[in-house]
Amino acid sequence: MARPQGPEAGYCKASRAALLYAMVGALWILCSDTLLGLWIEDPGLLQYAQLGKELAFVLASATALLLLLRRNHQRHLAHLRQDACQRAQLRELSQFRERIIDSANVWINVLDRHGQVTVWNQAAERITGYGREEVLGHDRIWKWLYPDPVYRAEIHTRVDDMLVRAKKFNGFESRIRARDGSTKVILWNAGRFYDEQGHVNGLIAIGRDTTKHKLAEQALVEHERQLATLMANLPGMAYRCRDTTHWTMQFASQGCRRLTGYAPEDFIDSHRLTFAAIIHPEDRQTLAIEIARAQTERRPFAVEYRIRHKDGREIWVWEQGQATKVGETCLLEGIIIDISERKRMEQALAQLAARDPLTGLYNRRELEQQLQAELASAGRYQHALGLLWLDIDHFKSINDRFGHLAGDAVLRQLAELLQEQVRAADYIARYGGEELVIVLPESDAEESLRLAERLCTTVATTPLKIPERPPIRISVSIGVAAFPAHATDIDTLFKIADQAMYTAKQQGRNRVHLATLTSLHDRQSPECTA
Ligand code: GH3
Ligand code: MG
Ligand code: MG
Repeated sequence: MARPQGPEAGYCKASRAALLYAMVGALWILCSDTLLGLWIEDPGLLQYAQLGKELAFVLASATALLLLLRRNHQRHLAHLRQDACQRAQLRELSQFRERIIDSANVWINVLDRHGQVTVWNQAAERITGYGREEVLGHDRIWKWLYPDPVYRAEIHTRVDDMLVRAKKFNGFESRIRARDGSTKVILWNAGRFYDEQGHVNGLIAIGRDTTKHKLAEQALVEHERQLATLMANLPGMAYRCRDTTHWTMQFASQGCRRLTGYAPEDFIDSHRLTFAAIIHPEDRQTLAIEIARAQTERRPFAVEYRIRHKDGREIWVWEQGQATKVGETCLLEGIIIDISERKRMEQALAQLAARDPLTGLYNRRELEQQLQAELASAGRYQHALGLLWLDIDHFKSINDRFGHLAGDAVLRQLAELLQEQVRAADYIARYGGEELVIVLPESDAEESLRLAERLCTTVATTPLKIPERPPIRISVSIGVAAFPAHATDIDTLFKIADQAMYTAKQQGRNRVHLATLTSLHDRQSPECTA
């Protein structure tokens, strides 16, 4: 049998104590009088003893009652204190809960089972613009938040689904109209709560304002679309590759197909076809060095180099990129653009700037530049270098007799003729007018002299075509000087060779004269003698 608890238990206990008291009291009265009668025979003394015994009983009962009351009082006090303490804790808990609900960054609202709002926190006020005093205890907030009746009905159905039919509400998105007229997107999570009997008491809904997130999402989609358009229309290709010797691609834009002839997928994570493999072998090191230097100096790199297109063509590209680290992997990111057209134009321009337009020979400026480098190299490696200074004899009279166009034709053909006679390493320049200079790297004075004599003979014996006339023959006078035999600097070398040519003229033209330091060594070629 279950033991009674609470006030019922107290009542039982009190009844038992009263019964015990009655029994002990009755037993005491009956037994004590009998015992005293047996023990004391003197009636006077017995009367006193009985009085004393009754007083003692009253005293004992009063003391017992006092102790009992005191204990009960103390217990009552302890209960009161405990009760007060529990109330304070409850109050604190409730305040704490309210504070949490209020300060939560999410919109918390509690609906009772009729759809009226019973909790509306600060975030709800901030997001909607409606204060709790105008929302709590009403259901008009629905109209304010969802002014479109059709949409409102849809929302009501969703709430009823949750409240009545226990359907899931999580992840539901609604668009509300805030007090300031702006539209906001709210993402909801909700759960039902129950009373002590287990009946549904209402709904706790937690909403997050995802408007900014949505806008950011839209902006991201737009950004990605723009990026895709940009990538697709880049003049070259954008890439991301591993910073290894193979430059294995992780990403390559569609421009890769146009630039290299290969599909981007052909390169992605491929060990069979790496980007390094299509780079011109002579340029690979330049590229690697520039990338490494840029990394050390923490700056972007920009390099021009050649790649081999899938169809075999050589293409000049310009690459600008930057090293970056993703986790532990070192990557390079950048763009590669086809600059072949620009390179062709540059080369054509350089050609134009270096060449004489009439003869196609190097011009004076180019001659001086190349000869400077050539002399430096000859000096470093202790090589000789020959220089021929060549002037057409009586050229003025050719112009006078056959016209200026005939003079031009003679100059052009002479250039071609000389070009055919010299080695690939030798080069010819038009110094000015009808004076040409021939540079003979790694040739000493003797070798240069021999070549000069051969040239002199060839020119003298080769007829040259001129417009509307039969071919004519011309002759040239050549001065020969050599490095380091006659001079070690360009100006002196020119001067000495020019002087030698002048001597050849003086000595009758159509001949070669070799310069010497001490004396002018005039050698007249037997074939060349005019
Ligand atoms: P010499 O044997 O002393 O050298 O006699 P020369 O007539 O050749 O005399 P010089 O070298 O002084 O004359 C150079 C002439 O070359 C003068 C100029 O009319 C002619 N000339 C210079 N440049 C050109 C050119 O581009 N085309 C033509 N047709 N003639 C040129
Ligand atoms: Mg001349
Ligand atoms: Mg001249």
